[in-house]
Amino acid sequence: MRTEILGVGFDDLTIEEAADRASALLEEEGFHYVVTPNPELVDRARREETFREALNGADLVLPDGIGVVYAARLLGRSLKGRCPGIDFAGKLMERMARKGQRLYLLGAKPGVAEAAAARLEVRYPGLTICGVHDGYFHEDGPVVEDIRKAGADVVFVCLGFPKQEYWMVKNGPATGARLLAGLGGSLDVFAGVVERAPESWQRLGLEWLYRLTREPKRIGRMARLPLFLAAALGERGKEKKRT
Ligand code: UDP
Repeated sequence: MRTEILGVGFDDLTIEEAADRASALLEEEGFHYVVTPNPELVDRARREETFREALNGADLVLPDGIGVVYAARLLGRSLKGRCPGIDFAGKLMERMARKGQRLYLLGAKPGVAEAAAARLEVRYPGLTICGVHDGYFHEDGPVVEDIRKAGADVVFVCLGFPKQEYWMVKNGPATGARLLAGLGGSLDVFAGVVERAPESWQRLGLEWLYRLTREPKRIGRMARLPLFLAAALGERGKEKKRT
């Protein structure tokens, strides 16, 4: 059963459990996909039904932001904690490396995925990066074909939201990969282009604040967080009235 937060159903898993689940999906036939919604994505899903369906249709829905965990608490629902997409990706790559599986990196500005690939192959010996493509292309067909030819088991789709979620739903099956994961700006971090918050900030749930100090232009996007929590409070009020 999923933990529902403002219309999006989250899997209540630790990062290790999520990576185990993803690894198991790689053994199953067919195509699977993972989404990592933060409050901004949930907010969009409230307003856009097709996006909500794209999120809820995923095989794994992981709470990327601390805001989602706070909303769960406000609603009195269970969520073990934050499961940042980038940490999930790290744990999945550890498992893939042990099995010699193949990863394709899609997204970010030209040159970034190549730089990420070089660093990841050093960090996870045994992992094969079977191909890369930047995220600024106009036609899906050639990219899908490149992934298919590369024989990828997993694709990290890092095109920003909602593009990456729609891209996975539309093109995932044709790539031949078993698992696609929508991971936002992760390739920038893997490549060393963007720095992540120090662990102490992460533990305090302040990664968003660190990011804001580095990229002040995100203030508009982040200003929606209080509104998101207010919506969770409103939802709680409605539920109390019903019971
Ligand atoms: N991006 C891309 N293609 C696009 C738009 C964005 O590849 O058409 C990339 C962008 O270069 C960045 C990532 O998608 O690497 C989005 O990063 P952001 O930190 O904004 O992720 P979000 O917060 O949306 O998860």
